Amino acid sequence: MDVEMKSQSTIEKGSEIEHVKLAILGAGPAGLSAALYAARAELEPLVLTGLSIGGQASLTHTIENYPGFPDGVGGVELGELFQKQAERFGARFSFELVTAVEFSHRPFKITTDGRTLLADAVIITMGANPNHLNVPGETELTGKGVSYCGTCDGWFFRGKEVVVVGGGDSALEEGLFLTRFATKVTIVHRRDELRAGAILQRRAQENDKISFIWDTVITDILGTDAVEAVRLKNVKTGAVSDFKTDGVFIFIGHTPNTQIFKDQLEVDDKGVIATDQRMKTNIAGVFVAGEVADAHYRQVVTSAGMGAGAAIEATRFLEAQE
Ligand code: NAP
Repeated sequence: MDVEMKSQSTIEKGSEIEHVKLAILGAGPAGLSAALYAARAELEPLVLTGLSIGGQASLTHTIENYPGFPDGVGGVELGELFQKQAERFGARFSFELVTAVEFSHRPFKITTDGRTLLADAVIITMGANPNHLNVPGETELTGKGVSYCGTCDGWFFRGKEVVVVGGGDSALEEGLFLTRFATKVTIVHRRDELRAGAILQRRAQENDKISFIWDTVITDILGTDAVEAVRLKNVKTGAVSDFKTDGVFIFIGHTPNTQIFKDQLEVDDKGVIATDQRMKTNIAGVFVAGEVADAHYRQVVTSAGMGAGAAIEATRFLEAQE
């Protein structure tokens, strides 16, 4: 959909609101890579980072599958390197949280927690948030034994026993990381087959500190001031039991962070923004990259690639407007 172009003054008369060529919303691998490419195209992109830089990758202790780092690279370090590289070519970063957007006319209006600004083009790269189990005890005990990040909270479980929920790459990778601290890591998975890739499966199965409980879900997290146990239900037999543990780490997938766009952009029932191979949305001048638009790969390298593509398309779009 083409949108009507209005002059800045028709949007907010007399105010000194910043007007940028390109705003990048989010600073994970997709946003940082878009920033690099857009900066090199001399668009002087402004990256509205949200609360942190690096995205979910920065919550990973070591990333072993990003090309160019044969010995792996720290998640935080990779984000810092991305940022440094983008800044070298003129990208600007601002720790602002985007709270609303107005895409019905250009320049697009973006509201953050501190101000309003205008942008001729936008790339949305706001990533995804971890899913919750939505069982009793989960909210109450978050931060008191319930966690969604092994890299962040593992240290607190030195010498303790923890449960990890999920059967994907995140569950196994984080479970393996937690063996550095915990004496025992029990992975609870709702099926009897893991979704995770072969290398992680092998490492987890060979690790003496890791054991599995198959075909089982957690129905309650028990404890008052701290996690004391989880209530398990075998989905095949229906058997219910309580399992003592000091911590519960939940890695059951993510939901794209696209709530604020769903009235203006085409978003599917899982929250993924519709795009084509050229990172375009249904609004001309609004592009997407990374987990907000990726239901299939969700890797650091694919997000970075999408970010580069979105920046190239935004550059072409802006050139065509001149
Ligand atoms: P995921 O691949 O979607 O796996 C989620 C896991 O949680 C699945 O095993 C799923 O079970 C289980 N699950 C979902 N909802 C559940 C519920 N309500 N209760 C209990 N279990 C539930 O998510 P992910 O592991 O976070 O990975 C996300 C993406 O990032 C993937 O593409 C992955 O490859 C990538 N990633 C890659 C790496 C790496 O390459 N080293 C590391 C981390 C993540 P089912 O299997 O039965 O569906």
